[in-house]
Amino acid sequence: MVKIECSICFDAFTTDQFRFLRCGHGFCVQCTDHLAMHNSCVLCKAPKRRGDAHPIFASFVLSESEEKAAQVTEGLRKIDANSSSSTVKASVQQLRDFLASNHTKKDLAQMLSVVADGLEERVSPLCSRVEELSGENEALKAKNKAVLLAYRKSLARVEEENGALRAAAARWEAVATLAQDRLHAQAISQQQPASTK
Ligand SMILES: [Zn+2]
Ligand SMILES: [Zn+2]
Repeated sequence: MVKIECSICFDAFTTDQFRFLRCGHGFCVQCTDHLAMHNSCVLCKAPKRRGDAHPIFASFVLSESEEKAAQVTEGLRKIDANSSSSTVKASVQQLRDFLASNHTKKDLAQMLSVVADGLEERVSPLCSRVEELSGENEALKAKNKAVLLAYRKSLARVEEENGALRAAAARWEAVATLAQDRLHAQAISQQQPASTK
């Protein structure tokens, strides 16, 4: 949207916030109100009467580069901590396209300063949230590591105990086999005299 600079307060306003005198000079609504007691224009001293100040109704057309700059600015202005990554990507792409095209340096400087004014303020909550999250992530990583370490230790202990149990079982099996062999041999030696009778 086109803005007009008030030559009294030097702020920029949209046309609906401007009032014009019969001499053709215009000022913002606030400054026009302050000038109500004057009976001449502060710029050209042309006499003015009460009720002279009037709005104008006109459609201003932006130049191509102004329009492009306005589009890019609008896109960048919308970026805040809640923006999706696709929105940010689209706006950055628009900016890249704008930078690649042949627009005047004045457009660029103006646009970028306007954008820089608000962007940091809007995005800084996001940055602190990212920092917060990466802090939480580090804490979780450390916790995970500790849990993993404890798990490995207890696993090693269980394996150790299993090994001892297996060794004991093997020993008992050997003893049992030996005892069985002896019993078997005994049984055979007891049977032999009877069978030779
Ligand atoms: Zn003003
Ligand atoms: Zn005037």
